[in-house]
This record gives sequence, structure tokens and C-alpha cells, in this order.
Amino acid sequence: MGALHQVDSNTNGNGSGTAKDGSRTTIKSWAPATGELLGEVRVSTKDEIRAAVARARKAQAAWGVLPIEERCERLLRLRDALVDRADEIVDVVSRECGKPRHDCLSHEVTVTVDLLSYYCKNAARILAPHDIGLHLLKHKKSSIHYAPRGVVGVISPWNFPFVIPMGDVLAALVAGNAVVLKPSEVTPLSIQKAKEIFDGTGLPEDLFTVVYGYGEAGQALIESGIQKLVFTGGVETGKRVAAACGANLVPCVMELGGKAPLIACADCDVERTARAIVFGGFVNSGQVCISVERVYAHESVHDQLVARVKEITGTLRQGDPNGTETVDVGAIIFPKQIEIAEKHIADAVAKGAQIVSGGKKRTGAGQFFEPTVLTGCDHTMTVMKEEIFGPIVPIQKVASEDEAVRLANDSHLGLNAYVFTKNREKGKRIAQRIEAGSVVVNDVLVNYAAAEAPFGGIKQSGFGRVHGDDALRDMCDARHVFSGRVPEPSSDPLWFPYSSKAYRWQMRVLRALFSRGSIVKRIGKLF
Ligand code: NDP
Repeated sequence: MGALHQVDSNTNGNGSGTAKDGSRTTIKSWAPATGELLGEVRVSTKDEIRAAVARARKAQAAWGVLPIEERCERLLRLRDALVDRADEIVDVVSRECGKPRHDCLSHEVTVTVDLLSYYCKNAARILAPHDIGLHLLKHKKSSIHYAPRGVVGVISPWNFPFVIPMGDVLAALVAGNAVVLKPSEVTPLSIQKAKEIFDGTGLPEDLFTVVYGYGEAGQALIESGIQKLVFTGGVETGKRVAAACGANLVPCVMELGGKAPLIACADCDVERTARAIVFGGFVNSGQVCISVERVYAHESVHDQLVARVKEITGTLRQGDPNGTETVDVGAIIFPKQIEIAEKHIADAVAKGAQIVSGGKKRTGAGQFFEPTVLTGCDHTMTVMKEEIFGPIVPIQKVASEDEAVRLANDSHLGLNAYVFTKNREKGKRIAQRIEAGSVVVNDVLVNYAAAEAPFGGIKQSGFGRVHGDDALRDMCDARHVFSGRVPEPSSDPLWFPYSSKAYRWQMRVLRALFSRGSIVKRIGKLF
């Protein structure tokens, strides 16, 4: 086991090789649970990234013209390989992220495989050309066809280093695109495993390329002639990436941070709500964009709920997940995340919050932070307003569900939200008042696993969607084909030459069609 790695402010805590000119040439991957060096990859140069996009474009030209069914048939071989080699994927991801093996299997592998299955089963339907009924130009016919965009770029974070990039990669491939992916510098090996499995299935190698590097590599990818970018990461990086996409007119999807509120209504099932808070707050050590990041508990259930959350949190087993299936909470990816957690707690305590469980970094090998529950929280505290991305659940007591909704909406972020109540219809009504991309009633996180449902944020949590039918269509250019229903005459009354008579005729048509009470409107209403 190697020594714990030191924080390097230039590299998010990861070590790197440096060339004579100061450029970073390699990325080292460290196990956060042990400090062990797991491996390293070479940083791709700008020229290599440009060349990867050019090769991808050639591969796409052959792939994009295959019938959807054939593409899906070939991608299902990749699915078989992912299932066969699931344990290998779990090993790499678990070690590289310090993440429990259960999380790796269910959240990283199963969700990826299910998304691919859904798209392969439904792509022919989702991407089928369809006619649009025209309400005015009845003599014309319109249809929409979906054509692959070309080369899709993907830039992905470290917290789900397999499922987040692979979900985007597979959607792009099903739709007939090629993909160039730049994973986070912190977790290069997880996606290296995906690429190794991909290459073993006989799919064209250049159809899916991985380039490695830091922010500059992401920037180079955006400037390399891609036709779409799917970015997942923090809000501040997202703003820079969106600006770069704007400068290059690259359409983009922005999947950014979250600050998911959980509303515990007066009539919630306290046991289920408490367990959901503990799971939703501490799974993957809280490093989840849809983690339970703040709880608003109705005063009538608050004390009971806090007591149960504390008890359940006390039973969690934290440690190095490698070689065991009985660790619940693993490590923290790098020291900076621990510093962020410490700052939130110090700020909250200084403003009157109480630590009910945890509250500090664990001593000894590896980067671990105790699952922490805070009570007496309010919106003057950063822990209730800014993304934590660590194992902290702050709880605020509220006097009414209206107050909870108001506080839930008092955020610049809007990715996921949760409502707990025994009255499901009431839960759905409250859900519709919450400003978030997805609101889940009586459950947590699970919406990400619904391949059919769009996933993404509003406000500064981003724009565009992944998953669901629209995300697959958005991997394509929607091309509009417009034609006639009847033989076209040799000229058209709206074409040249213009005349006063033609103008007056147009005015009569306008009034007949659109004036309130016009004869055409009245006749139209009869049918
Ligand atoms: P970052 O924003 O730091 O990085 C995301 C990716 O962008 C990384 O690959 C990073 O590379 C790259 N990058 C950094 N700078 C640039 C740049 N200037 N141009 C192009 N690419 C760049 O996010 P994290 O990896 O720290 O991930 C955590 C964040 O991701 C959290 O805020 C979380 O909420 C969010 N997230 C959102 C999800 C969603 O679906 N909405 C899901 C999961 C996470 P490098 O690593 O080399 O810096």
C-alpha cells in the first residue's frame, strides 16, 4: 500500500507527470480509501484530440448509415460483455472512487446496462420519422427525420465515473454518432475499463475514443469540430464550458450541481423517511448530484425523525470497500472535498447548528469523513444554500408544508427534490410546486434509474436532458422535410410579381382566417 497522496492545488489532489515546459503529461490514479497508486494514463495533446475527432468522424460515416436495428444488435453485444465483466468494472470503480461494491454494481453497471437495453429496444420507435399535421398549409405535408449529429463530445465528472459518461456514450452511439470522451482527471481508470470492454466486442475502435487530460483537454475537445457536447460537472466549470461551446457554436447539454431538498410532511412515514434521509444523504459519501442535501422536517415529526436518523446513521459501516461487500459508506474522493465539508460544518455550528452525529474527518489511512447529521439549521448557513457534495445532512424544523416549499425553492439550483407523505396525491401536488428537474415522492435518487424519464436540472443546475426518449432524439439533428400533397401549379399567388390586388387579397384572407367572429372561424367551430 503506498503513502497517502498529497493535495496538489493544480491537479485537484491527483499527482501528475510534468514535462520540461511545465505541461502535465501523465495522470495518476490513487485509491482514496488507501492512498495506493492504482495506475496512470498519458495526457492527450491537443493534436491527438483533434485527430481523435477526425478519426471518429470517419468511423461515424459508416456507423450512422447502418439501420438502427443493426446498430442496436451490435451494441447489445457490448451489453453482454458489460454484464459478463461486471465484477471487473466493480473492482476498478470501487478502488478508484473508494465506493462500496453494492453502489458500483447497482448504480454504475446495472443502470448503464438497463439504459442501453431500453434504447436498443425502443430506438427504432423513438427515432422513426413522423408526420406533423399542418393547421394552415393544408396543401403541404411535413415530416421530421432524425439524422445522427456526427461526433458527440462527452466531458464527465469523477463521482459516477462509469454510468454518467457511458449513459451519454451509449445514447450517442445508438443514435448513430461517434463519441470522443474526456473523463475526469481523478478517475481515468474506470473509463479505461469501459473502453477495453468496448474494444473487445468488435465494434469499430474509432467509434468511441477516450482522451485524457485536465480542463485544457476538455477545452480542446470543444474546439475540435464536435457537433454536440454533453457536460456533467460543477456549476462554475459548467459556465466556462457553456461559454466555450457558445464561442464554437456547439450545442450542449449542461448537467450541473444540485442541492436536493427533502420535505418531511407532518403525515410522513417516519421510519421510511428516516431511512431515505440516511441512504439519500450518505450513499457514495454524499458525492451525488441528487444527494439529500437539506431536510425540511415538519415540527410535528421533527424530533422523532431526528432521533431515528441519528440511530440509523450510527449503524452505518464505513471503510475501505475493497474486497468486502459489507461496507455501507466508503471514502471521499480527494482532500478538497473534506475541506469543503469541514467549512460547511464550522459555518453551521458558528451560526447555531448542533452536530447530532459525526462531524469530522476520520483519522488513519484513507480519506474518510464521518456521516454527519446537523440540526437547528437555517438558510443563513452555507450548508443549506451551497452544494455540499459530502456526507452531511442538515435538518431544519418548519412550521408548515408551505414554509417547506418556500425554503425548498429558495435556491439557485434545481436538480432533484423529495417529498415524504403518506398521502401520495398530496405528495404529487407538493411536487408540482417545487422548482426542480425531477421531484420524487416517498423515495430518493431512484429517478436516475428510470431509463424512460428525462433527467436534468433547471435554474443553475443546467439545461438539456439525458435519459428518456427526448435525450435520444436530441443526439440527432431533427430534419424537416416539406412537400406538397397536390401537383404544384407553375406559379404561386404569394410569389413575384407583387401587386396591389394580391396585397388586398392577402388582407382579406388574413381577416377571414384570424378575426374574431369571422365567417371562416364560425364555420370552423361547427366541425
Ligand atoms: P468539475 O466541474 O470540476 O469537472 C467536470 C469535468 O469538466 C471534468 O472532466 C473536468 O476535468 C472538466 N473540466 C474542468 N475544467 C474544464 C474546462 N475549462 N473546459 C472543459 N472541461 C473542463 O466537476 P467534478 O468532476 O468535480 O464533479 C462534481 C460536480 O459534478 C458536482 O458539482 C456535481 O453536482 C456535478 N454533477 C452533476 C450531475 C448531474 O447529472 N447534474 C451528476 C454528477 C455530478 P478535470 O477533472 O480534469 O478538472
